[in-house]
Amino acid sequence: MKLNEADVIAILLDRRPEADMAKQFGVAKNTINRIRTGARWAHVAPDIQRWHRYVRASSPADVVAQRSTLDPVTGCRNWDGSLQSEGYGNFSFDGQFYLAHRVAYEAAKGPIPDGLLLRHSCDNRRCCNHEHLTPGSDQDNKDDCVSRRRHYFGEQHHWAKLTESQVQEIRASKSRNKDLAAEFGVDPSAVSHIKRNRNWRATP
Ligand SMILES: [Zn+2]
Repeated sequence: MKLNEADVIAILLDRRPEADMAKQFGVAKNTINRIRTGARWAHVAPDIQRWHRYVRASSPADVVAQRSTLDPVTGCRNWDGSLQSEGYGNFSFDGQFYLAHRVAYEAAKGPIPDGLLLRHSCDNRRCCNHEHLTPGSDQDNKDDCVSRRRHYFGEQHHWAKLTESQVQEIRASKSRNKDLAAEFGVDPSAVSHIKRNRNWRATP
């Protein structure tokens, strides 16, 4: 969609995450970011754009609070920023590197015991809702994966009809999940799962 000046002002005054604004205005997330930071439409409202550039969170937990959005249906608090290679939200703050879900958990419940990782009961790695996180061992996490895979193949067999090459095609594609789902005849949640979970196999 082509944006006009009124749209740009609306984007600048709204504090919702980039993803939500992108959806509303039918543009890429990056476009929203460029508008907000003044890389585009710099003449519209330089003061607000400067604010978007320099607004700073006061702590890592504050970053997570500002950059995640509650999904009212699933109860997941989805990280809106970048993801590391395994699909977990990550960011740096004061020169240190953080994983969003671990920060959220520690802010709510205290330190994670040494050597343990956090398991997502919702199987959504972007999720930063501490209620969906439980400390566990690496082995627990692997067991979760196995039982979930069994679940996908047992109950959601419409996902399993995809071949390995189709799975790779979906993962490589830049098309929207909705469009891919229609193209391959699967549910959009299957597409999003495939893109998120790099360990996905077409055959169990
Ligand atoms: Zn969740």
